[in-house]
Amino acid sequence: MAQADYDIIIVGGGMVGASFAYALKNSAHKIALIEAFDFKTTQQPSYDDRGIALSYGSQRILDTMGLWQQLAPHSTAISDIHISDRGHFGATRLSAQQENVPALGQVILARAMGKVLNQAMSENTTLDILCPNKVIALNHQSNQVELTLDDDRKITSKLIVAADGANSTIRRLLDLSVTEQDYQQTAITANISTERPHHNRAFERFTEHGPIALLPMPDNRCSLIWTVKTGDETAINDLDDTAFLARLQTEFGYRLGQFTQVGKRGHYPLKLTQTDQPIQNRIVFVGNAAHNLHPIAGQGFNLGLRDVIALADVLVDETEDCGRPKHLHDYQQWQQRDQDNVIKATNLLVRLFSNNNPVLGHGRSAGLIALDLIPPAKHWLAKKSMGLGKKQPRLARGIAL
Ligand SMILES: Cc1cc2nc3c(=O)[nH]c(=O)nc-3n(C[C@H](O)[C@H](O)[C@H](O)COP(=O)(O)OP(=O)(O)OC[C@H]3O[C@@H](n4cnc5c(N)ncnc54)[C@H](O)[C@@H]3O)c2cc1C
Repeated sequence: MAQADYDIIIVGGGMVGASFAYALKNSAHKIALIEAFDFKTTQQPSYDDRGIALSYGSQRILDTMGLWQQLAPHSTAISDIHISDRGHFGATRLSAQQENVPALGQVILARAMGKVLNQAMSENTTLDILCPNKVIALNHQSNQVELTLDDDRKITSKLIVAADGANSTIRRLLDLSVTEQDYQQTAITANISTERPHHNRAFERFTEHGPIALLPMPDNRCSLIWTVKTGDETAINDLDDTAFLARLQTEFGYRLGQFTQVGKRGHYPLKLTQTDQPIQNRIVFVGNAAHNLHPIAGQGFNLGLRDVIALADVLVDETEDCGRPKHLHDYQQWQQRDQDNVIKATNLLVRLFSNNNPVLGHGRSAGLIALDLIPPAKHWLAKKSMGLGKKQPRLARGIAL
């Protein structure tokens, strides 16, 4: 049997696949990363203008990986999160000061994140980046997996890490089932300028038409994620800028004064997609390829990053076969509960806060008031949204791999 070309092949160079490649930069493994889109093109769908809220835990991980110094100039700290419910009494505030951390999280544009990750990967001379290249076929051989690329090249590896996004090609090639929940919601995104300074506050406002998040960005802009019922996004996107801002203002209110400008708008249909069996023989699914979440709680990348640092931790010291079932089992043991918890919590938030049932409305405003009055509950929520509070892999504990 010929020697496999690689110890690990990563399919997908989005934020999760690229972070995984970088996390293993000091390992002795022979690694290739295959990405369909040229990193320099503005068409690369993973690195668009969406604002990504990085949890405090993710910031710590990226810092330990040696990436934070490059990311910091592009990011804006979140000092407070203000959560409120339109048309109901009650609001809650989470604050970095109360949680005794320098910031609750950081906001960075996916595009900026992509530039930094791409630069960092290109400096890693031991990583083979095959880009632009698509995987089009997969073939299990004894003790390795063979991938065929769109230029007819065939390459083999002991382990395939599928980081190829919500519509994973690897999942399709293996004919694996998914559990899907279509929320019938669409997220409209844009960068917004406001009359009053945000003072590093993030806002999550629940309305009867869906949640609105405004995340702080440089130059007193905010990154908007406005969730609407699917079908409604067309009429909203058809509005000219003035009418769009007026509509948003009605939904959000005047906490940041008048909205003055809106940038390019994007929209994303929202559904939960989960690969039913994310561990296969010599193949593991991570990030959106394993679980594509509603962005309501800003947890998709944060969870995907925790996936890949746990996987890196399990694999880094292996000297012979990264595809051993034991490694994939250990990884699953480590991450399964985290994934289940985040998916459950995100689903609960979507159901609770996307419903205009008046009873639910009163219930949730009571919840928000209670949360504000009961510091331990608030502390728990803050800890969760910062990505802390479970057994941590080395990179999350400040120990480099
Ligand atoms: C509006 C919005 C706001 C969000 N806000 C937040 C937030 O605040 N915080 C947060 O943590 N998360 C947030 N998320 C989620 C976050 O964006 C995703 O979780 C994250 O981008 C997933 O990255 P990924 O690398 O797993 O997948 P993707 O970004 O989908 O990357 C997959 C990559 O695989 C490549 N690929 C696909 N098929 C092939 C193939 N056959 N061969 C080779 N390459 C292939 C693709 O080109 C792509 O580059 C948000 C999402 C949305 C939509």
